[in-house]
Amino acid sequence: MATFHPLRVAEVARETSDSVVVSFEVPSELTEAFSFEAGQYLTLRTTIDGEDVRRSYSLCSAPRDGKWQVGIKKVPGGKFSTFANDVLQAGTEMDVMDPQGRFLLKEGAGLHHLGMAAGSGITPILSQIKQVLSEDASATYTLFYSNKTAASTMFREELQDLKDRFLDRLRVFYLLTREPVDADLLSGRLDQARCKGLLETFCQGRSLDAAYLCGPEAMIMSCKDALVEAGMAEGDVKFELFTSAGAAKPKAKVVETSNANTVPMQVVLDGVTTSIELDKDKNMLDAALDAGLDAPYSCLGGVCCTCRAKMVEGKASMNVNYALEPGEVERGYVLACQAHVEGEGAVVLDFDQQ
Ligand SMILES: Cc1cc2nc3c(=O)[nH]c(=O)nc-3n(C[C@H](O)[C@H](O)[C@H](O)COP(=O)(O)OP(=O)(O)OC[C@H]3O[C@@H](n4cnc5c(N)ncnc54)[C@H](O)[C@@H]3O)c2cc1C
Repeated sequence: MATFHPLRVAEVARETSDSVVVSFEVPSELTEAFSFEAGQYLTLRTTIDGEDVRRSYSLCSAPRDGKWQVGIKKVPGGKFSTFANDVLQAGTEMDVMDPQGRFLLKEGAGLHHLGMAAGSGITPILSQIKQVLSEDASATYTLFYSNKTAASTMFREELQDLKDRFLDRLRVFYLLTREPVDADLLSGRLDQARCKGLLETFCQGRSLDAAYLCGPEAMIMSCKDALVEAGMAEGDVKFELFTSAGAAKPKAKVVETSNANTVPMQVVLDGVTTSIELDKDKNMLDAALDAGLDAPYSCLGGVCCTCRAKMVEGKASMNVNYALEPGEVERGYVLACQAHVEGEGAVVLDFDQQ
Protein backbone atom coordinates (compact mmCIF):
# COMPACT_ATOMS: atom_id res chain seq x y z
CA MET A 1 0.00 0.00 0.00
CA ALA A 2 1.11 3.56 -0.68
CA THR A 3 2.66 4.90 2.52
CA PHE A 4 4.39 8.09 3.61
CA HIS A 5 8.01 7.85 4.75
CA PRO A 6 10.01 10.69 6.32
CA LEU A 7 12.83 11.64 3.91
CA ARG A 8 15.52 14.28 4.28
CA VAL A 9 15.68 17.00 1.65
CA ALA A 10 19.24 16.79 0.32
CA GLU A 11 19.13 19.91 -1.86
CA VAL A 12 16.82 22.63 -3.10
CA ALA A 13 18.39 24.00 -6.29
CA ARG A 14 17.00 26.94 -8.23
CA GLU A 15 16.13 25.94 -11.78
CA THR A 16 14.47 29.13 -13.10
CA SER A 17 13.28 32.26 -11.29
CA ASP A 18 10.02 30.47 -10.47
CA SER A 19 11.02 26.84 -10.14
CA VAL A 20 13.26 24.64 -8.02
CA VAL A 21 14.57 21.09 -8.15
CA VAL A 22 14.20 19.29 -4.83
CA SER A 23 16.39 16.23 -4.19
CA PHE A 24 15.61 13.66 -1.53
CA GLU A 25 17.93 11.36 0.35
CA VAL A 26 16.57 7.81 0.33
CA PRO A 27 18.23 5.61 2.99
CA SER A 28 19.32 2.14 1.85
CA GLU A 29 16.49 0.40 3.75
CA LEU A 30 13.96 2.35 1.65
CA THR A 31 15.53 2.10 -1.81
CA GLU A 32 13.32 -0.85 -2.72
CA ALA A 33 10.14 0.95 -1.63
CA PHE A 34 11.27 4.01 -3.61
CA SER A 35 12.30 2.19 -6.79
CA PHE A 36 10.42 3.79 -9.65
CA GLU A 37 9.78 3.86 -13.36
CA ALA A 38 10.32 6.90 -15.55
CA GLY A 39 7.11 8.95 -15.56
CA GLN A 40 6.05 8.18 -11.98
CA TYR A 41 5.50 10.77 -9.27
CA LEU A 42 6.04 11.32 -5.55
CA THR A 43 3.40 12.72 -3.22
CA LEU A 44 4.87 15.15 -0.70
CA ARG A 45 3.15 16.10 2.53
CA THR A 46 3.82 18.94 4.91
CA THR A 47 1.99 21.27 7.26
CA ILE A 48 1.50 24.84 6.04
CA ASP A 49 -0.21 27.33 8.38
CA GLY A 50 -1.50 24.42 10.43
CA GLU A 51 -3.01 22.69 7.39
CA ASP A 52 -2.01 19.24 6.13
CA VAL A 53 -1.04 19.92 2.50
CA ARG A 54 -0.11 17.13 0.11
CA ARG A 55 0.75 17.47 -3.56
CA SER A 56 2.16 15.19 -6.24
CA TYR A 57 5.34 15.91 -8.22
CA SER A 58 6.70 13.83 -11.08
CA LEU A 59 10.22 12.54 -10.70
CA CYS A 60 12.42 14.38 -13.20
CA SER A 61 15.45 12.17 -12.50
CA ALA A 62 15.66 8.84 -14.28
CA PRO A 63 15.58 5.53 -12.38
CA ARG A 64 19.08 4.71 -13.65
CA ASP A 65 20.43 7.97 -12.09
CA GLY A 66 19.92 6.60 -8.56
CA LYS A 67 18.50 9.99 -7.59
CA TRP A 68 15.08 11.12 -6.44
CA GLN A 69 14.47 14.62 -7.77
CA VAL A 70 11.32 16.60 -8.47
CA GLY A 71 10.98 19.95 -10.25
CA ILE A 72 8.44 22.30 -8.68
CA LYS A 73 7.17 25.36 -10.54
CA LYS A 74 5.60 28.13 -8.49
CA VAL A 75 1.88 28.55 -9.18
CA PRO A 76 0.72 32.10 -8.30
CA GLY A 77 -1.04 31.85 -4.92
CA GLY A 78 -0.28 28.12 -4.77
CA LYS A 79 0.26 26.78 -1.24
CA PHE A 80 2.76 24.01 -1.72
CA SER A 81 4.65 25.30 -4.75
CA THR A 82 5.22 28.67 -3.05
CA PHE A 83 6.41 26.92 0.11
CA ALA A 84 8.80 24.73 -1.94
CA ASN A 85 10.19 27.70 -3.88
CA ASP A 86 10.46 30.22 -1.04
CA VAL A 87 10.78 28.35 2.25
CA LEU A 88 11.94 24.76 1.82
CA GLN A 89 15.60 24.14 2.60
CA ALA A 90 18.08 21.29 2.52
CA GLY A 91 18.03 19.33 5.76
CA THR A 92 14.26 19.52 6.21
CA GLU A 93 12.52 16.22 6.85
CA MET A 94 9.41 15.72 4.77
CA ASP A 95 6.81 12.98 4.40
CA VAL A 96 7.15 11.43 0.95
CA MET A 97 4.95 8.65 -0.42
CA ASP A 98 6.54 5.86 -2.41
CA PRO A 99 6.38 6.42 -6.19
CA GLN A 100 3.03 6.00 -7.94
CA GLY A 101 1.62 6.54 -11.40
CA ARG A 102 0.89 4.97 -14.73
CA PHE A 103 2.40 7.51 -17.12
CA LEU A 104 4.99 5.01 -18.34
CA LEU A 105 7.11 4.48 -21.43
CA LYS A 106 5.75 2.10 -24.02
CA GLU A 107 7.65 -1.18 -23.91
CA GLY A 108 9.68 -2.26 -26.92
CA ALA A 109 13.04 -1.64 -28.54
CA GLY A 110 13.88 0.80 -31.33
CA LEU A 111 10.74 2.88 -30.89
CA HIS A 112 10.35 6.49 -31.94
CA HIS A 113 8.89 8.32 -28.94
CA LEU A 114 7.20 11.69 -29.17
CA GLY A 115 6.87 14.03 -26.19
CA MET A 116 4.75 17.15 -25.95
CA ALA A 117 5.20 19.18 -22.79
CA ALA A 118 4.22 22.61 -21.56
CA GLY A 119 5.81 24.35 -18.56
CA SER A 120 6.37 22.07 -15.58
CA GLY A 121 4.88 19.24 -17.68
CA ILE A 122 8.46 18.56 -18.80
CA THR A 123 9.32 16.76 -15.53
CA PRO A 124 8.07 13.20 -16.20
CA ILE A 125 9.05 13.51 -19.85
CA LEU A 126 12.63 14.49 -18.96
CA SER A 127 12.91 11.36 -16.84
CA GLN A 128 11.57 9.24 -19.70
CA ILE A 129 13.93 10.78 -22.28
CA LYS A 130 16.98 10.11 -20.08
CA GLN A 131 15.85 6.58 -19.32
CA VAL A 132 14.87 5.40 -22.78
CA LEU A 133 17.78 6.92 -24.69
CA SER A 134 20.32 5.51 -22.22
CA GLU A 135 18.77 2.07 -21.97
CA ASP A 136 17.92 1.48 -25.62
CA ALA A 137 20.60 2.44 -28.14
CA SER A 138 18.11 2.16 -31.00
CA ALA A 139 15.38 4.37 -29.49
CA THR A 140 14.77 7.89 -30.84
CA TYR A 141 12.88 10.78 -29.27
CA THR A 142 11.29 13.97 -30.61
CA LEU A 143 10.24 16.57 -28.05
CA PHE A 144 8.02 19.61 -28.57
CA TYR A 145 8.29 21.79 -25.47
CA SER A 146 6.21 24.91 -24.99
CA ASN A 147 6.90 27.74 -22.53
CA LYS A 148 6.05 31.39 -22.09
CA THR A 149 9.64 32.61 -22.49
CA ALA A 150 13.11 31.16 -22.91
CA ALA A 151 14.06 32.28 -19.39
CA SER A 152 11.10 30.46 -17.82
CA THR A 153 11.94 27.18 -19.60
CA MET A 154 12.78 24.50 -17.05
CA PHE A 155 15.71 22.13 -17.69
CA ARG A 156 16.89 23.94 -20.83
CA GLU A 157 20.53 23.31 -19.99
CA GLU A 158 20.00 19.65 -19.18
CA LEU A 159 18.06 19.16 -22.41
CA GLN A 160 20.90 20.81 -24.32
CA ASP A 161 23.39 18.40 -22.72
CA LEU A 162 21.15 15.48 -23.66
CA LYS A 163 20.91 16.75 -27.22
CA ASP A 164 24.72 16.89 -27.41
CA ARG A 165 25.00 13.42 -25.94
CA PHE A 166 22.33 11.81 -28.13
CA LEU A 167 23.03 13.86 -31.23
CA ASP A 168 21.27 11.62 -33.75
CA ARG A 169 18.57 10.30 -31.50
CA LEU A 170 17.08 13.29 -29.68
CA ARG A 171 15.40 16.27 -31.33
CA VAL A 172 14.05 19.13 -29.21
CA PHE A 173 11.84 21.89 -30.59
CA TYR A 174 11.10 24.81 -28.26
CA LEU A 175 7.84 26.73 -28.64
CA LEU A 176 7.41 30.11 -26.99
CA THR A 177 4.10 31.86 -26.38
CA ARG A 178 5.27 35.28 -25.14
CA GLU A 179 8.48 35.85 -27.08
CA PRO A 180 9.09 36.02 -30.80
CA VAL A 181 10.49 32.89 -32.44
CA ASP A 182 11.96 32.76 -35.95
CA ALA A 183 9.66 29.99 -37.17
CA ASP A 184 5.94 30.85 -37.08
CA LEU A 185 5.08 27.27 -36.27
CA LEU A 186 7.07 27.44 -33.03
CA SER A 187 5.48 30.68 -31.92
CA GLY A 188 2.31 30.17 -29.87
CA ARG A 189 0.40 27.59 -27.89
CA LEU A 190 0.38 23.87 -28.51
CA ASP A 191 -3.18 23.55 -29.79
CA GLN A 192 -4.66 21.07 -32.24
CA ALA A 193 -3.83 23.06 -35.39
CA ARG A 194 -0.25 23.70 -34.29
CA CYS A 195 0.22 20.08 -33.26
CA LYS A 196 -0.98 19.01 -36.71
CA GLY A 197 1.45 21.46 -38.32
CA LEU A 198 4.36 20.25 -36.19
CA LEU A 199 3.67 16.63 -37.06
CA GLU A 200 3.42 17.40 -40.76
CA THR A 201 6.57 19.52 -40.77
CA PHE A 202 8.88 17.64 -38.43
CA CYS A 203 7.58 14.07 -38.23
CA GLN A 204 6.54 13.34 -41.80
CA GLY A 205 7.81 9.95 -42.91
CA ARG A 206 8.79 8.88 -39.38
CA SER A 207 6.90 6.24 -37.46
CA LEU A 208 5.24 7.50 -34.30
CA ASP A 209 5.24 4.59 -31.88
CA ALA A 210 4.20 6.29 -28.66
CA ALA A 211 3.33 9.82 -27.58
CA TYR A 212 3.51 11.34 -24.10
CA LEU A 213 1.62 14.53 -23.30
CA CYS A 214 1.96 16.60 -20.14
CA GLY A 215 0.70 20.12 -19.58
CA PRO A 216 -2.61 21.96 -19.20
CA GLU A 217 -5.78 19.98 -19.84
CA ALA A 218 -6.73 21.89 -23.00
CA MET A 219 -3.31 21.29 -24.55
CA ILE A 220 -3.39 17.59 -23.73
CA MET A 221 -6.85 17.02 -25.16
CA SER A 222 -6.25 18.98 -28.36
CA CYS A 223 -2.84 17.38 -29.04
CA LYS A 224 -4.32 13.95 -28.34
CA ASP A 225 -7.00 14.60 -30.96
CA ALA A 226 -4.37 15.74 -33.48
CA LEU A 227 -2.23 12.63 -32.88
CA VAL A 228 -5.17 10.27 -33.26
CA GLU A 229 -6.23 12.15 -36.38
CA ALA A 230 -2.67 11.66 -37.68
CA GLY A 231 -3.17 7.91 -37.36
CA MET A 232 -1.88 7.02 -33.89
CA ALA A 233 -3.80 4.44 -31.86
CA GLU A 234 -5.47 6.05 -28.83
CA GLY A 235 -3.73 3.60 -26.50
CA ASP A 236 -0.33 4.82 -27.71
CA VAL A 237 -1.08 8.41 -26.72
CA LYS A 238 -0.43 8.61 -23.00
CA PHE A 239 -0.95 11.68 -20.87
CA GLU A 240 -0.41 12.98 -17.36
CA LEU A 241 -2.62 15.77 -16.09
CA PHE A 242 -1.26 17.96 -13.31
CA THR A 243 -4.53 19.70 -12.64
CA SER A 244 -8.02 19.78 -14.07
CA ALA A 245 -11.04 22.00 -13.70
CA GLY A 246 -12.35 19.65 -11.03
CA ALA A 247 -9.08 19.12 -9.16
CA ALA A 248 -8.44 19.99 -5.53
CA LYS A 249 -12.10 20.36 -4.73
CA PRO A 250 -12.71 20.72 -1.01
CA LYS A 251 -13.83 17.60 0.71
CA ALA A 252 -17.58 17.00 0.67
CA LYS A 253 -19.23 18.46 3.72
CA VAL A 254 -20.15 15.90 6.32
CA VAL A 255 -23.91 15.99 6.68
CA GLU A 256 -26.12 14.01 8.99
CA THR A 257 -28.09 11.52 6.95
CA SER A 258 -30.71 8.94 7.66
CA ASN A 259 -29.75 5.28 7.44
CA ALA A 260 -31.90 5.00 4.30
CA ASN A 261 -29.22 6.90 2.41
CA THR A 262 -26.35 4.70 3.47
CA VAL A 263 -25.00 1.28 2.59
CA PRO A 264 -22.64 -0.88 4.63
CA MET A 265 -19.03 -0.56 3.54
CA GLN A 266 -15.87 -2.40 4.48
CA VAL A 267 -12.54 -0.70 3.89
CA VAL A 268 -9.38 -2.81 3.69
CA LEU A 269 -6.34 -0.70 4.48
CA ASP A 270 -2.91 -1.84 5.57
CA GLY A 271 -4.19 -5.36 6.26
CA VAL A 272 -7.00 -4.19 8.52
CA THR A 273 -10.72 -4.33 7.60
CA THR A 274 -12.92 -1.58 9.03
CA SER A 275 -16.72 -1.55 8.76
CA ILE A 276 -18.39 1.81 8.23
CA GLU A 277 -21.65 3.20 6.85
CA LEU A 278 -21.22 4.81 3.43
CA ASP A 279 -23.36 7.85 2.74
CA LYS A 280 -24.47 7.39 -0.87
CA ASP A 281 -23.95 11.10 -1.58
CA LYS A 282 -20.36 10.94 -0.44
CA ASN A 283 -17.32 9.70 -2.33
CA MET A 284 -15.62 6.63 -0.88
CA LEU A 285 -12.38 8.40 0.03
CA ASP A 286 -14.22 11.01 2.11
CA ALA A 287 -16.18 8.23 3.81
CA ALA A 288 -12.94 6.45 4.74
CA LEU A 289 -11.21 9.65 5.91
CA ASP A 290 -14.23 10.76 7.93
CA ALA A 291 -14.16 7.40 9.66
CA GLY A 292 -10.61 8.22 10.79
CA LEU A 293 -8.81 5.94 8.35
CA ASP A 294 -5.46 7.09 6.94
CA ALA A 295 -6.36 6.31 3.32
CA PRO A 296 -3.87 7.51 0.68
CA TYR A 297 -4.79 10.49 -1.49
CA SER A 298 -3.33 13.57 -3.11
CA CYS A 299 -5.09 15.62 -5.81
CA LEU A 300 -8.76 14.96 -4.88
CA GLY A 301 -9.69 15.67 -8.48
CA GLY A 302 -9.34 12.31 -10.28
CA VAL A 303 -6.05 13.41 -11.83
CA CYS A 304 -3.46 11.36 -9.93
CA CYS A 305 -3.93 7.75 -8.90
CA THR A 306 -2.76 7.96 -5.28
CA CYS A 307 -6.21 6.90 -3.96
CA ARG A 308 -6.52 3.94 -6.37
CA ALA A 309 -8.34 1.03 -4.72
CA LYS A 310 -10.15 -2.11 -5.79
CA MET A 311 -13.89 -2.65 -5.47
CA VAL A 312 -13.94 -6.19 -4.21
CA GLU A 313 -17.71 -6.13 -3.73
CA GLY A 314 -20.41 -3.74 -4.90
CA LYS A 315 -20.63 -1.34 -7.81
CA ALA A 316 -19.30 2.18 -8.14
CA SER A 317 -19.22 4.94 -10.71
CA MET A 318 -16.62 7.72 -10.90
CA ASN A 319 -17.37 11.40 -11.51
CA VAL A 320 -14.15 11.79 -13.50
CA ASN A 321 -11.15 9.56 -14.16
CA TYR A 322 -8.02 10.97 -15.77
CA ALA A 323 -5.65 8.42 -14.28
CA LEU A 324 -6.84 4.83 -14.57
CA GLU A 325 -6.51 2.82 -17.78
CA PRO A 326 -9.71 1.25 -19.18
CA GLY A 327 -8.35 -2.22 -18.30
CA GLU A 328 -7.91 -1.24 -14.66
CA VAL A 329 -11.47 0.05 -14.47
CA GLU A 330 -12.69 -3.23 -15.99
CA ARG A 331 -10.79 -5.11 -13.27
CA GLY A 332 -12.68 -3.15 -10.61
CA TYR A 333 -10.18 -0.41 -9.73
CA VAL A 334 -11.53 3.03 -8.84
CA LEU A 335 -10.16 6.39 -7.81
CA ALA A 336 -11.68 6.50 -4.34
CA CYS A 337 -11.92 10.32 -4.40
CA GLN A 338 -14.29 10.04 -7.36
CA ALA A 339 -16.11 6.81 -6.54
CA HIS A 340 -19.77 6.78 -5.57
CA VAL A 341 -21.72 3.66 -4.77
CA GLU A 342 -24.30 2.46 -7.25
CA GLY A 343 -27.28 0.45 -6.04
CA GLU A 344 -28.17 -0.66 -2.54
CA GLY A 345 -25.69 -3.51 -2.00
CA ALA A 346 -22.81 -3.61 0.45
CA VAL A 347 -19.41 -2.36 -0.66
CA VAL A 348 -15.91 -3.69 -0.01
CA LEU A 349 -13.11 -1.34 -1.03
CA ASP A 350 -9.53 -2.61 -0.83
CA PHE A 351 -6.67 -0.09 -0.82
CA ASP A 352 -4.08 -2.85 -0.40
CA GLN A 353 -4.61 -4.54 -3.78
CA GLN A 354 -2.20 -2.79 -6.10
C1 LIG B 1 0.51 13.30 -11.02
C2 LIG B 1 0.91 14.76 -10.83
C3 LIG B 1 2.21 15.14 -11.05
C4 LIG B 1 2.58 16.49 -10.92
N1 LIG B 1 3.87 16.86 -11.16
C5 LIG B 1 4.25 18.14 -11.04
C6 LIG B 1 5.60 18.55 -11.31
O1 LIG B 1 6.44 17.72 -11.64
N2 LIG B 1 5.92 19.85 -11.16
C7 LIG B 1 5.00 20.79 -10.78
O2 LIG B 1 5.37 21.98 -10.64
N3 LIG B 1 3.71 20.44 -10.52
C8 LIG B 1 3.31 19.15 -10.63
N4 LIG B 1 2.02 18.79 -10.33
C9 LIG B 1 1.10 19.80 -9.83
C10 LIG B 1 1.24 19.88 -8.30
O3 LIG B 1 0.79 18.68 -7.70
C11 LIG B 1 0.41 21.02 -7.68
O4 LIG B 1 -0.92 20.92 -8.15
C12 LIG B 1 0.96 22.39 -8.02
O5 LIG B 1 2.29 22.53 -7.56
C13 LIG B 1 0.10 23.49 -7.38
O6 LIG B 1 0.04 23.24 -6.00
P1 LIG B 1 -0.07 24.46 -4.97
O7 LIG B 1 -0.33 23.89 -3.62
O8 LIG B 1 1.08 25.36 -5.13
O9 LIG B 1 -1.36 25.23 -5.52
P2 LIG B 1 -2.83 25.19 -4.88
O10 LIG B 1 -2.81 25.94 -3.60
O11 LIG B 1 -3.30 23.76 -4.87
O12 LIG B 1 -3.63 25.92 -6.01
C14 LIG B 1 -3.63 27.33 -6.21
C15 LIG B 1 -4.39 27.65 -7.48
O13 LIG B 1 -3.62 27.25 -8.62
C16 LIG B 1 -4.35 26.37 -9.48
N5 LIG B 1 -3.39 25.35 -9.92
C17 LIG B 1 -3.05 24.22 -9.28
N6 LIG B 1 -2.10 23.55 -9.97
C18 LIG B 1 -1.83 24.29 -11.06
C19 LIG B 1 -0.93 24.14 -12.15
N7 LIG B 1 -0.10 23.07 -12.25
N8 LIG B 1 -0.92 25.12 -13.09
C20 LIG B 1 -1.73 26.19 -13.00
N9 LIG B 1 -2.60 26.38 -11.99
C21 LIG B 1 -2.66 25.45 -11.04
C22 LIG B 1 -5.42 25.78 -8.59
O14 LIG B 1 -6.57 25.41 -9.36
C23 LIG B 1 -5.72 26.94 -7.63
O15 LIG B 1 -6.61 27.84 -8.22
C24 LIG B 1 1.63 17.45 -10.51
C25 LIG B 1 0.31 17.04 -10.26
C26 LIG B 1 -0.05 15.71 -10.42
C27 LIG B 1 -1.49 15.31 -10.15
